[in-house]
Amino acid sequence: MAFPFDIGFAKSARAAGGLVILLQVAGQTAASVDDVDPEGAVARAAGIAKFTGKALKTLDVLAPHGASADRILVLGLGEAEKLTAHDWLKAGGAAAAKIRGSEKATIYLDAPGVTVTARNAADFALGMQLGAYSFDTYKTKKADDEEARGGKAVKVTLVTAHANAAKKANDISDAVAEGVILARNLVNEPANVLGPVEFADKAKALEKLGVEVDILTEREMKKLGMAALLGVAQGSVRPPRLAIMQWKGGKEKDRPIAFIGKGVVFDSGGISIKQAAGMEDMKGDMGGAAAVIGLMHTLAARKAKANVVGILGLVENMPDGNAQRPGDIVKSMSGQTIEVINTDAEGRLVLCDALWYCNETFKPQFMVNLATLTGAIMVALGSHHAGLFSNDDTLAGRLTAAGLATNERLWRMPLGREYDKMIDSKFADMKNTGGRYAGSITAAQFLQRFVKDTPWAHLDIAGTAIGSPTDEINHSWASGFGVRLLDELVRANYEA
Ligand code: MN
Ligand code: ZN
Repeated sequence: MAFPFDIGFAKSARAAGGLVILLQVAGQTAASVDDVDPEGAVARAAGIAKFTGKALKTLDVLAPHGASADRILVLGLGEAEKLTAHDWLKAGGAAAAKIRGSEKATIYLDAPGVTVTARNAADFALGMQLGAYSFDTYKTKKADDEEARGGKAVKVTLVTAHANAAKKANDISDAVAEGVILARNLVNEPANVLGPVEFADKAKALEKLGVEVDILTEREMKKLGMAALLGVAQGSVRPPRLAIMQWKGGKEKDRPIAFIGKGVVFDSGGISIKQAAGMEDMKGDMGGAAAVIGLMHTLAARKAKANVVGILGLVENMPDGNAQRPGDIVKSMSGQTIEVINTDAEGRLVLCDALWYCNETFKPQFMVNLATLTGAIMVALGSHHAGLFSNDDTLAGRLTAAGLATNERLWRMPLGREYDKMIDSKFADMKNTGGRYAGSITAAQFLQRFVKDTPWAHLDIAGTAIGSPTDEINHSWASGFGVRLLDELVRANYEA
């Protein structure tokens, strides 16, 4: 993958032109680097501007005569004692924004008053790559600075005492950046380009990283009895696919862990058609599948020591003479029957067969599914937390902790018998909506009917995967939410 920055690490460096960035924690001075600033111009400029190293504030300094840099920039880190992993990512993203248009940059990470670890340096580098991401595939006119670079990566040297260890840690950062960028690209891609078949091809492409990939066609899914998933797809001229990815990095005897993604490449709502305003956003209704494929890429690229299954349910939901109707009753692979009350509650119909298939085929240690499932979760939590529903406190706790570590935060929502009753149907075993109230919860109850006693969690990422507020490490409509979160979950708990 072509990154915007070509990042190297060094114990010391001479800037020899280009942009130099110095870091400064609150209440301290910036590092003084002799050849960069032989006359102490930075300290004088900081005094005049009352620059104190507040987080993400910057100070531009005209490079003095005799300096080896063309431009000097000081970047504030905030209070040293409060620095989190995410702060290092954001600092990297802020640096990236300042480097745009430069030919090269040298960044001195070691600042007075803070000990910079290899992981901090690698997080800074990750923040740079993610922060500079933009989706401009379809812009025939590139931004001026892009044009000037001619698509070439900017050379960046990160200077730190732990350069060797940081370089190693950065291999992992690169794997994570690739996974997040893959997920963002897929979500940003329009549905006329990315249908179920094309998405499945993206999964197939992971074979070059050593992932085993099987793609089930419509006929094979019919044989398996996946009528719930197939019912959603039947109004589209584009056939559905189920992508099954296996990364076998763990011990042979270890049962796999499993991630399942909703991949509705476009959700018109079907016969229960959505209103026109904002419907274009429904090209992103495959954000769950995008996170799962991004995660599988990351795990394979960094050779994670775990056995992991990733499954994508890939369909398009369209109104058509052949589309399913409200009132239709379908029989899921589990044998349970479903009355389709609203054809726009299609994600759960796709996931229920994917979850059942996963559980029966792989007997996983746990299943985590991700889906842009309900508008109701946005009513409850906005865009700052994804909804977490789980039948297992250990899994829920680990997911929550991974969310805090990566700042891809989760908030646990309730499940319960009373909510489950809300989806009982007059005509079938269940119906696919429980009405307006508790809409994100009844969706989760529906899914729970397909996981038996396997530890399971459902992440409703409708508010966090698309159109969420941008920040230093994401300026894109698609955030790639879930890749860093789940990579952290695996890394912290499931690698021997
Ligand atoms: Mn829908
Ligand atoms: Zn949907």
